Amino acid sequence: MSSSKFIDYSMPTSNLKHKAKAVIKSILTKFEQINRPLKIMHICGTHEATVSRSGIRSLLPNDLRIISGPGCPVCVCPSEHVTTAIKLADEGNIITTFGDMLKVPDHSLMTLNQSKAMGNDIRVVYSVSDAVQYAKENPNKKFIWLGIGFETTAPMTSFVLEKEKLPENFFVLTDFRLVPPAMHLLCNDPEFDIDGYVLPGHVSTIIGTNPYEIFPKKYLIPCVIGGFNSIEFLIALDKTLEQILESDAHVYNAYPKVVKKEGNRSAIESMKNVFDIVDAKWRGIGIIPKSGYELNAEFSNHNARNLLDEPIIVTNDLPKGCKCGGVILGKVEPEDCPHFLRQCTPETAIGPCMVSDEGTCRIRATYMNFQMTTS
Ligand code: SF4
Ligand code: SF4
Repeated sequence: MSSSKFIDYSMPTSNLKHKAKAVIKSILTKFEQINRPLKIMHICGTHEATVSRSGIRSLLPNDLRIISGPGCPVCVCPSEHVTTAIKLADEGNIITTFGDMLKVPDHSLMTLNQSKAMGNDIRVVYSVSDAVQYAKENPNKKFIWLGIGFETTAPMTSFVLEKEKLPENFFVLTDFRLVPPAMHLLCNDPEFDIDGYVLPGHVSTIIGTNPYEIFPKKYLIPCVIGGFNSIEFLIALDKTLEQILESDAHVYNAYPKVVKKEGNRSAIESMKNVFDIVDAKWRGIGIIPKSGYELNAEFSNHNARNLLDEPIIVTNDLPKGCKCGGVILGKVEPEDCPHFLRQCTPETAIGPCMVSDEGTCRIRATYMNFQMTTS
């Protein structure tokens, strides 16, 4: 198969190549001085897309590995979320969600798309406000908003719940997840062999830098917050290697134009007002303590889970053979899955990591032959 040349539309090409060359040279020099294999994990689907699309890995030595961690909110959304949404739709309720969620298969490979094809009312909306508006316009129907995502998207829902006058027929099925508890899970894994974290820019914009301080202190792991274009990612990688070289693990903000130490105070406050932090299930991983947001008692009248007689519980949440759990934790590569590009392709996804543009399997399938050139 042919390879593609590096393209990053966020910067003029000549500028980009010049800058990329300088940063890569710095990375390679540090790597040589460190003189051992390294694994650096990012926790952001857009970082993986940047790395894969620009072919950054093709310019790094094989033993300087960039690993994709649990950075795709669609991938980690539990199977129960999809199954519950389908059940609520079967019962005549109207489901509102972002487009990606329609394609996510649950444990039985059923999707909201299939549910829609069978006649259920499932609507793609641009925001939670659209869902509220639908509910206001149709007071005799129950509208359910599927609230999934990380700290980045949770405030969009909490702001609306807090500030809008909510109609009684508007409900939320909440499965928001928090990034730092997943980092703790990884760090406490006896097999954990990651040498540094490149941290997600958007999530950090909301939560700030403080929630990461414990990681270098407790686990001695370098933490660098990175931006989203290829140069910003390379700079974050370079800063991570600098900490490894100097044995000086700390939190470094390499995306200061957007991320502030204190984060977004009004978003943090809004989430506190609307959500409780609860133990939560991550698909393919299991329960992670204090890693999810659930509507608090004040908003229980709008909690879609209360519309069910009993909660739906799924024990095997991935199809047979699917390695999404290992892919999400950075333990296996998509190519290690027997279904990769066989039964499971971007057009015929059977596991969650093949659905979203932030899913590692889908990104790998899309950009697997991209290479970077700086000459
Ligand atoms: S929401 Fe933003 S920071 Fe979080 S995983 Fe997606 S792209 Fe990365
Ligand atoms: S290729 Fe498909 S089935 Fe295999 S791990 Fe990825 S998403 Fe899961």
